Amino acid sequence: MATVERLTERAVAVTFDVPDDLREIFAFEPGQHLTLRAEINGADVRRSYSICMSRAQAAVDGRLRIASNEVDGGAMSAWLNRVVRPGDQIDVLAPLGDFVCPPVDTERELVAVAAGSGITPVISLVRTILEEEPGSQVTLIFGNRTPETMMFREELHWLADNCAARFDLIEVFSRAPEAAADPLLTGRIDGEKVRQILRRAGVAVPEVDGWFLCGPIGMIDDVRTAIVADGADPATVQHEEFFQDPLPDA
Ligand SMILES: Cc1cc2nc3c(=O)[nH]c(=O)nc-3n(C[C@H](O)[C@H](O)[C@H](O)COP(=O)(O)OP(=O)(O)OC[C@H]3O[C@@H](n4cnc5c(N)ncnc54)[C@H](O)[C@@H]3O)c2cc1C
Repeated sequence: MATVERLTERAVAVTFDVPDDLREIFAFEPGQHLTLRAEINGADVRRSYSICMSRAQAAVDGRLRIASNEVDGGAMSAWLNRVVRPGDQIDVLAPLGDFVCPPVDTERELVAVAAGSGITPVISLVRTILEEEPGSQVTLIFGNRTPETMMFREELHWLADNCAARFDLIEVFSRAPEAAADPLLTGRIDGEKVRQILRRAGVAVPEVDGWFLCGPIGMIDDVRTAIVADGADPATVQHEEFFQDPLPDA
């Protein structure tokens, strides 16, 4: 590991150096994940972590970045959050996954909905689209408990400030009513909330070219049902599941 950076009280970002002779194997499509393999308390543990940087960012210093949110009782996430240090060695398998959005020459309207650590593949997709498709528009609805538990808050705000005409960042907090005095931006993300937020943001659901959903499976299902009912083409809706059961509170 090259660097270990604390993002929130319960999340770290970890970067890996990619040796020159492995560059081709570790070339990735934004939205893909790496499989990490480590021996933890005598057990061989393998877990997936999404690459959370744009293609251009990865090209700058030849590193790959993942981020891990610590789950209660979790083997790998606790190890990444509490034990690993820069310089430690870990086995990393080549990028995998089809939660991707290859760049196009046309101008598109895209919407992403993420909750909690579900932001990791989404920030990679959003940032790459903003960098590689100068005519495309992205709306990101991102749910967290509080501003303090929000991963990549600074980076997302920086993107929102620097790409104001093309990137709309809409933050929803489930446990910080004082931070989001607006009832629509308070509570957990579900299909109805997404429907109302998009209506207010002026996004016409049937005209959206691509949807990217990442978070608890219950949120993904509910949002998909609502947007398809409002006219989204099901073929344009992609999702990534981190975990089958509902998270305690995203
Ligand atoms: C394609 C893919 C991409 C992923 N990308 C990321 C990522 O970028 N960042 C990230 O933090 N995680 C990501 N995950 C989840 C990650 O792979 C691990 O499942 C997670 O870190 C927990 O592993 P663990 O070894 O700490 O927990 P385990 O030891 O496997 O489980 C410990 C306990 O936590 C529960 N649990 C397991 N996973 C979760 C979870 N995700 N949420 C809540 N409870 C859970 C288990 O039921 C168990 O009770 C991704 C998963 C997939 C499939």
